[in-house]
Amino acid sequence: MELKDLKNIGPKRLEGLNKLNIYNLNDLVFYAPNYYEDRKTLIPVKELKEGVAALVYVKIISGPFYKKTSRNMDMIIFNATDGERAVDIVFFNQRWAAANFKRNLSYFVFGKPSMFNNKISFINPIFSQTKTDELGSVVPVYPLTKAITNKVLRQCIKTALGEFEDVLVLPRSIAEKYNIINIKTLLNFVHFPDTISEAEYAFKSLAYIEAFLFHVMKYSGRSFSKKIDGFVLKDTEEEREFLRNLPFLLTDGQKKAIVDIKNDSESKKAMNRLIQGDVGSGKTVVSQYLAVKTVASGYQVAFMAPTTLLAIQNYEKLKTVSERMGFNCCLITSKTSKFEKNEIRKNLITGDLDILVGTHSLLNEDINFKNLGSVIIDEQHRFGVKQRDALIEKQKGANILVMSATPIPRSLALILYGDMDISEIHSMPKDRRKIDTFVVAKNEMGRVNGFVESEIKKGRQAYYVCPLIEDSEKSDLQSAKSLYQELQGKFDCNIAILTGQTSEEDKDEVMEKFKNGEIDILVSTTVIEVGIDVPNASTIVIMNAERFGLAQLHQLRGRVGRGKHKSTCIIVHNAKSEDTYKRLKTIERNSDGFYIAIEDLKERGPGEILGLKQSGAQKFKFLDFERDLRIVEESKIDFDLYIKDAPKDEIAVIKRNATDIFGIMDNGVLNWELFQE
Ligand code: ADP
Ligand code: MG
Repeated sequence: MELKDLKNIGPKRLEGLNKLNIYNLNDLVFYAPNYYEDRKTLIPVKELKEGVAALVYVKIISGPFYKKTSRNMDMIIFNATDGERAVDIVFFNQRWAAANFKRNLSYFVFGKPSMFNNKISFINPIFSQTKTDELGSVVPVYPLTKAITNKVLRQCIKTALGEFEDVLVLPRSIAEKYNIINIKTLLNFVHFPDTISEAEYAFKSLAYIEAFLFHVMKYSGRSFSKKIDGFVLKDTEEEREFLRNLPFLLTDGQKKAIVDIKNDSESKKAMNRLIQGDVGSGKTVVSQYLAVKTVASGYQVAFMAPTTLLAIQNYEKLKTVSERMGFNCCLITSKTSKFEKNEIRKNLITGDLDILVGTHSLLNEDINFKNLGSVIIDEQHRFGVKQRDALIEKQKGANILVMSATPIPRSLALILYGDMDISEIHSMPKDRRKIDTFVVAKNEMGRVNGFVESEIKKGRQAYYVCPLIEDSEKSDLQSAKSLYQELQGKFDCNIAILTGQTSEEDKDEVMEKFKNGEIDILVSTTVIEVGIDVPNASTIVIMNAERFGLAQLHQLRGRVGRGKHKSTCIIVHNAKSEDTYKRLKTIERNSDGFYIAIEDLKERGPGEILGLKQSGAQKFKFLDFERDLRIVEESKIDFDLYIKDAPKDEIAVIKRNATDIFGIMDNGVLNWELFQE
């Protein structure tokens, strides 16, 4: 059966359904309501509260009284009572409704009461003489569109549910554990519940099922490196020496991450760990700890960074450590000469080279290690999974440590990186000064530029970030090119531009010069988002900030505040709405990336954060990443346990059903591949 075969569904309504991302009967049965209304529990009129939706059963005692409002609207008033207390029922511009009300008859009336002419009244309520699907029961309220009313949608869902065949979606053992009944009954509870608590039970169960099925789909997408035996690192004197010699005290988050790494890498199973921590939370030393421990245990280390610049930064830091420890450390990028490359290759094979830092040049087939014990990946979200896997493939059983500076809520991380263990660094180093953040309107640019100028005069450097590379007829957004020209006329200092159009070579050169202080102001697009570390840069100005996501703004802000100077982030907006302004204020008031990540999630939904941008893609239907953290965590633990000795045929059936029902693979909605980037 197709949508168009449903009763009462013509072309207009069909279009309406499509607008709601409903294209087939399955979409209908899995269409989740926003909330529920209790249109079942009868309330005496005297207990009605303003603004709280309720159901009464009343007799019409007088009316209709016709009036006109000051705006010339029809107004029809009835007086009614439940035998104890009077209530008015008022209709605006609804003559048809008034025609259906008969004096001396009794009606169920449902709505949100309000005070009208000093009397408690129902304005344009739903009513009926008898109980129906819409009245006298618990009613789910769905997201709707013009052509589709709640009532019509429910009728469609009822038919679709009738056609729906129950299938196995959870392993029996797990269904039993949580007392989750079959999916068809759950769906009936969601759409036609007897009580609110029944609906809540079904909602939660379906959220669990969705999370679990996601783990199932994900599992079949790739191998679980977690399961394999790995290189066992030793408890070494060198790691203690390394920690003793740090120039600062570790934060609690860093200590915890180091303990996690120690436990993982000394165990028989290979480590596979993600470290999430805000920009500047000090992930580098944590990764260095692993590098030291690995080499001291007699193995080699590969360290991969997403850009040449970041590779160099990390290399320089690791080299200092290596020199102290007597390790050999080399850098490999696309610029490394043939001769050097040959040396590196040779020394890798003989084992004379302990640590190799590099960009994706590390992935070249002719780069082979003698005994690669640990793989470290910085800013891992900038790599595709294929690249990540390619590095991991270099040595099965190597300890894997990946670092991410864009914190995402734990629930999302569990879904996205479900095959990894996760450490989170929440605390910032104590001496870190807050970055002053200001939200200003575009017409204040004069003052903003004045401020930047004074910073430059003090010897500082600044970034300007724009949403566009060049001017476009289609939008009035600030482009990097035009701002670059404009600023050159205004400032007497060295200004450079860096965008996605800049060649890889020029990019490196510009960044190098900026780092050395030869450039004072860098005008760019979001290409500077990744962990660039220029301690002397103290100001960042973000143009048309309303165009950026919260997490992205926070990430951009992290480009400053890396040195000893007081730093400033100026968020320039051209926002038309109060909401946008409020949103930007979130950044002004908060500096915790994890908190901002949750706000970002509320705002944009998980799909967009996970990179599922295609329009209209329905993401998780019942699972809510903010509300259901526990469900995501539990389902992950359950799944890991289950998969250890899952009956092969059971998991195959579940996988197939999941694909059919949720369309996980077919329509690309929850396509696992999409989650990987
Ligand atoms: P990220 O987590 O963004 O990679 P880094 O590891 O680059 O951050 O650390 C940022 C800066 O903070 C570095 O200069 C580092 O030396 C310093 N740092 C790291 N940990 C601490 C600490 N516990 N106390 C003080 N400074 C620290
Ligand atoms: Mg870093």
